[in-house]
Amino acid sequence: MTSFADDPCRGGLLPLETALTRILAAIEPLDADEWLDLRLAAGRILARDVHAPTDLPAFTNAAMDGYAVVTAELAPETPLTLVGRALAGKPFAGTLRSGQCVRIFTGAAVPRGADAVVMQEAVRREGNRIYLQHLPQSGENIRPAGGDVRRGERVLRRGDRLAAAQLGLLAALGISTVRVFQRPRVAYFSSGDELTPLGTPLAPGRIYDSNRYSLYGLLHPLPVAPVDLGRQPDDRERLAACLAQAGEQFDVVVSTGGASVGEADLLRQALTRVGELHLWRIAVKPGKPLIFGRIRRAWYFGLPGNPVSVHVTFSQIVRPALWRLAGGRPFRPLRLQVPCRNQLRKAAGRLEFQRGRLILGGDGIWQVEGLAGQGSHQLTTLAQANCYIVLPAESTGADPGDVVEVEPFETSIFHD
Ligand code: AMP
Ligand code: MG
Repeated sequence: MTSFADDPCRGGLLPLETALTRILAAIEPLDADEWLDLRLAAGRILARDVHAPTDLPAFTNAAMDGYAVVTAELAPETPLTLVGRALAGKPFAGTLRSGQCVRIFTGAAVPRGADAVVMQEAVRREGNRIYLQHLPQSGENIRPAGGDVRRGERVLRRGDRLAAAQLGLLAALGISTVRVFQRPRVAYFSSGDELTPLGTPLAPGRIYDSNRYSLYGLLHPLPVAPVDLGRQPDDRERLAACLAQAGEQFDVVVSTGGASVGEADLLRQALTRVGELHLWRIAVKPGKPLIFGRIRRAWYFGLPGNPVSVHVTFSQIVRPALWRLAGGRPFRPLRLQVPCRNQLRKAAGRLEFQRGRLILGGDGIWQVEGLAGQGSHQLTTLAQANCYIVLPAESTGADPGDVVEVEPFETSIFHD
């Protein structure tokens, strides 16, 4: 890949799209896989296509409670003779002939000979005689064998994530183990002399190390194996040693803090001693000082220290990169155009992620409200937000009623 040194944007800021494209182009999926029990595979990414070992449904069955009938030779006003019952798991053993019917319940196998189910609300019953209020079509209220999936058909693709629906589908097909990609091992640490672990009283000028908890929360839902390396002081030697060691042992190393141009911002210097700097500084607010590089066998992401910048750079850069490394197919974050309720302030220059709340208006139309308190240190508004409002670099803000782009937090992964 183009290294920082011969980058035409040297010293400047890379647009997010450019940075992400370069990072994703550099990263190859790890491509190591393993067999896992279905439950342990929850959240993992499939390493092989899955083909159906059976038809689904495996047998033709009733879609409703009612009466199974033979549609040929049905005549209005001529009653049918009730000859038996079919329940889910308890099929009717015989063959149905015209003039006969079987009481049937949802999920029960349709008896041989029958080709429709008349729903129970559409019949009149007098003892063993069943009068139909209308004449059914062949196939009515029946779920045919193989109507959902044919044996041999591909039901899931390599690169699909195993969420609840995929697990349910595999179980319906009787598949109890799946071949999934191994999880990239992701080490993370925070840096800064001011950082204090939870449970220790704060000395003057110190703060709690919140970023490591943010990273824990951001990594946890992904198909990766996170390892917490703790805190590091603002010390070049110690940082370089930490990076070098982590670069030997992990697939990815993520740090927070010390990525900017302050006197104590040493991560870039530490990186260039033990690895390669590929890219630094993106035209994103908050999150400008992002570092991307390579240490031995690991990819390195140096995130800024400001708590909100950690979330923004992780969601926009680190998450798609980890997703690719983990074998997932490319995705786009869900972005929607929504009218804005209040005035949003912004200076032209960088792509900006503001914290917002999507609110359902009385007219049934979703609107977004920008929250007051957009400083990159203000985690409170991030915790109250349910979306980012994504304002383009050239934008100078928005007025009430203007349509803006939002990225909801919870459902931000959508495959092409
Ligand atoms: P830095 O990028 O190291 O200059 O840090 C920018 C700001 O983020 C400073 O106010 C730091 O105190 C703060 N910060 C850095 N690391 C953390 C952390 N792990 N948890 C909370 N705040 C942090
Ligand atoms: Mg610092």
